[in-house]
Amino acid sequence: MSFVESEERIALRKAVSEFGAEYGHDYFTAKARAGEKTTELWEEAGKLGYLGVAVPEEYGGGGGGIGDLAAVCEELAAAGCPLLLMVVSPAICATVIARFGTEEQKSKWLPGFADGTLKMAFAITEPDAGSNSHKLRTSVRRDGDEWVLKGGKTYISGIDEVDAVLVVAILETGPVLVVVPTNAEGFTWQEIDMDLFMPEKQFTLFFDDVRLPSDAVVGSPDQGLLQVFAGLNPERIMGASMGTGSARLAIGKAVKYAKERAVWDTPIGAHQGLAHPLAKIHVEVELARLMTQKAAALYDSGRDKEAGEAANMAKYAAGEAIAAAVDQAIQIHGGNGLSREYGLASMLASSRLSRIAPVSREMVLNFVAQNSLKLPRSY
Ligand SMILES: Cc1cc2nc3c(=O)[nH]c(=O)nc-3n(C[C@H](O)[C@H](O)[C@H](O)COP(=O)(O)OP(=O)(O)OC[C@H]3O[C@@H](n4cnc5c(N)ncnc54)[C@H](O)[C@@H]3O)c2cc1C
Repeated sequence: MSFVESEERIALRKAVSEFGAEYGHDYFTAKARAGEKTTELWEEAGKLGYLGVAVPEEYGGGGGGIGDLAAVCEELAAAGCPLLLMVVSPAICATVIARFGTEEQKSKWLPGFADGTLKMAFAITEPDAGSNSHKLRTSVRRDGDEWVLKGGKTYISGIDEVDAVLVVAILETGPVLVVVPTNAEGFTWQEIDMDLFMPEKQFTLFFDDVRLPSDAVVGSPDQGLLQVFAGLNPERIMGASMGTGSARLAIGKAVKYAKERAVWDTPIGAHQGLAHPLAKIHVEVELARLMTQKAAALYDSGRDKEAGEAANMAKYAAGEAIAAAVDQAIQIHGGNGLSREYGLASMLASSRLSRIAPVSREMVLNFVAQNSLKLPRSY
């Protein structure tokens, strides 16, 4: 048993951290403000192998695990560049295809994930189902050699910048995962107006009898449910990593300011009213990071069930930590906390995202209550 990351993982973190610093939080906020994408950052990260670090080597990837990908995501977020699409494209989509895809599907999609030239969104959420995935209605049926997809999804990230979307659809036998190219006939979408400060946009999707080729359904249709679960654990681990990375950024800004600003004789960081909350949040971020690394280690060693519990706990802890970190960092900055110059107010709405997506805080607590504590359920 080791509580220390490997030399390789530590070196990866350092390299990604230095790479992220070349772009930095000012670059990220300028892009978001201008309504532009962080395309050059994504492309360079892809070329350097950071986005494909968990793709198997035979398809051009780094051959690492979700723990490595999560480290990349966390370090980029800590450098001020949280990449929302990392949580879906290389983490869910590439993982599911690598684990369950046919040989043809792997050869078709994985090399693009390995170098970041392919981006894929992930769509499970539906307007009328929300957190209740038993109410999913988007359906897929066989028609000769083809599949026909009908229904819709909502709050799907990044459709305007991806090549395809991995859709959870219902076949008579249960859920399956379907790859839908964004240029498929009958597939349209509408942007949702968000007051979220990030380059990635959110969309409602419409599938109007979209006809897809026979290889559109990932792997074997009877493994659909297993595939969904295999994708959701990496999503939670990555969501947690983005949260802890962003929390580190906020704490870093707060510490710097608390050391420099003095309105009495000592810097404001000497007042325990500011120092203690910051120390408490630092502890909480470190605990969330530890649980995230544990979840990734369990997942990478094939222990899916235990990884599920740890990934949920990590996601919960990270969601609470980032929300508290941004809130306290703003408080420490006084009026400056709400100014544009210090780059904290722009983090406020997105710091709440980790409590809502990819799974809400309440649904995580339901999971822990029912699975870890064996309590009865109310719904
Ligand atoms: C910026 C953003 C990006 C997103 N990106 C994606 C994406 O790329 N792909 C995708 O598929 N989805 C995406 N989502 C959707 C996200 O996963 C959902 O918003 C989330 O799962 C919550 O579902 P909901 O919004 O329908 O809330 P609801 O299910 O309507 O829940 C509303 C409230 O009720 C609570 N609640 C519901 N049921 C219970 C219960 N049984 N017990 C206690 N409380 C309960 C919830 O916790 C929540 O607080 C994104 C969302 C956002 C905001």
